[in-house]
Amino acid sequence: MPHALTLRPATRVLRRAPGEVQIGTDPRWAVRLVGLSAAEERWLQSLEPRFGADGAPCATTADLRPPAQRRGTLLRLLEEAGLLVRRRPRRRVSTGPGNGDAELPVLDAVRHDGAGHRALAGRARAVVGVVGIGRLGATLATTLATAGVGTIVAHETAPVLATDVGLGGFRLRDVGAPRGLALARILGEVAPGVTTASGRVPDVVVVVEHDAADPDRVRELVGDGVAHLSIVVREADVVVGPFVRPGLDPCVRCVDLRRRDVDPCWPQMARQLRDAVGPGYEDAVLSSVAASVASGQVLAAIDGDVPRTATACLEILAPDAVPRLRGTTSHPECGCTELRGAPPDGTPLVRAGLAPRATSTRTSGDRTRIG
Ligand SMILES: [Zn+2]
Repeated sequence: MPHALTLRPATRVLRRAPGEVQIGTDPRWAVRLVGLSAAEERWLQSLEPRFGADGAPCATTADLRPPAQRRGTLLRLLEEAGLLVRRRPRRRVSTGPGNGDAELPVLDAVRHDGAGHRALAGRARAVVGVVGIGRLGATLATTLATAGVGTIVAHETAPVLATDVGLGGFRLRDVGAPRGLALARILGEVAPGVTTASGRVPDVVVVVEHDAADPDRVRELVGDGVAHLSIVVREADVVVGPFVRPGLDPCVRCVDLRRRDVDPCWPQMARQLRDAVGPGYEDAVLSSVAASVASGQVLAAIDGDVPRTATACLEILAPDAVPRLRGTTSHPECGCTELRGAPPDGTPLVRAGLAPRATSTRTSGDRTRIG
């Protein structure tokens, strides 16, 4: 094996049959090697990273090596399959529990360069704002914190309700406490390295609303070029999306205008929905599934990928909470795609070129400052 390369971390090497080995189990990258000698099988199996009880890698046995020419052929096959990556540095920084050890194998596997530690470092630097921290928003925030997001900003003074208690979020002891303070305490308990205040413009803002999204609530984010994810809790489902990178993706208003095209009465109905005042209940299962799916969208963007909801909304329906995709497209009347230049697909989010300053959005009649 070339000195600087190694098999992707967490890749399994499995014996399928005499002379046949499978490397990896995910169909996106797994390969089968056939026509192997018994010695080659053993050597390939020795490449699988192994760790002792203390988490330290175990040494492989050098005397298992096949002849150099044959070894070179096998390594070339592995490299062509994208299964060899550069060795990563030992030092790693994550604000997630256990220094991000649970996230690292998956990030190693899904990244083209196998450098999951870089994704963890990016998450540790990221700032995410959450507006609308009820049952869903609190679960979302704790999920992001445990996944290694370093700063989560969520200032809300409305009290926690008993119906806000849920998976990974608020507890009964929090009922009556200001939501922002209660959430900060919970985040500190699950990920002590997380900070809950930042003078920086967030990389992503998540806005949780009820009944109908209000494009005016995210107008400043669109104008400032801040990526944001809309989540709407409706009668018996939750809509996650669109994820908007201003200037690139269909925005909340685009989606609203498309709906008006289909139903001319939608604007007046939407107005009534937005004006409604109520407790804003959030079903337990829909909230936890939506929080997880939404966290995946935010993390994909932070990790440098294009979230699926950049071109679709995910509708999570009661009772079984199986998400379904509904595609989104820009609306010609909106004009949001003519906004300021935004980073190209796949590049890190809005950190570059934005001076730190506060951004504000409205939610449920409250005015909430982000950043
Ligand atoms: Zn638009």
